[in-house]
Amino acid sequence: MARCYQCGKCSAGCPMGAEMALPPHDIMRLTIANDRERLFNDDSLWLCLTCETCSARCPNDVDPARVIDALRELAAGEGAEHAPRNIRAFHESFLEQIRSTGRLSEVGLIMQYKLRSGALLQDVAVAPAMLRRGKLPLRPQRIAGVGEVKALMAACERERGARAAPAAGGAAAPGAGATGGHHNGEDAR
Ligand code: SF4
Ligand code: SF4
Repeated sequence: MARCYQCGKCSAGCPMGAEMALPPHDIMRLTIANDRERLFNDDSLWLCLTCETCSARCPNDVDPARVIDALRELAAGEGAEHAPRNIRAFHESFLEQIRSTGRLSEVGLIMQYKLRSGALLQDVAVAPAMLRRGKLPLRPQRIAGVGEVKALMAACERERGARAAPAAGGAAAPGAGATGGHHNGEDAR
């Protein structure tokens, strides 16, 4: 992170840059400055699509996409108020699907998202057509190594808990480590 010299190439290529109050170069600057308050009280972290364009464009081998992923986990660990409800619902549902089957089940993801977000009737009108066309397989597929996925995610949770304990009494540097992937399925606003 210290290699970031604020050239802005990451933000210039970011497909969500226009929607973010804090585009990736600003996120990098605030992370280096350890400004948790501004980082965690802004929706920008949660608008990132993890497309990794910013990381690919960086001339100095900084990895803003990975930093943002880590910041999201830190923010989520500090409290639900740090993420818009629908994005947090999607984030948690996505991870839960990966934890339980090792891959994404569209139907499972939709059901969990709806329960968590409260958006029970959103998009229900398109479901019959998607089912007819085979776009929503009803039977979740489980990968052979799902046990390893569970163990990996459990280890990440333990590590996050261990990091959060000392941070609760003082300021830990943001961006200390990622514990899970993230994909936004919906706009926060
Ligand atoms: S992260 Fe890379 S591309 Fe973005 S401002 Fe810093 S040096 Fe430039
Ligand atoms: S990974 Fe996130 S911050 Fe980076 S370019 Fe993609 S949307 Fe923008």
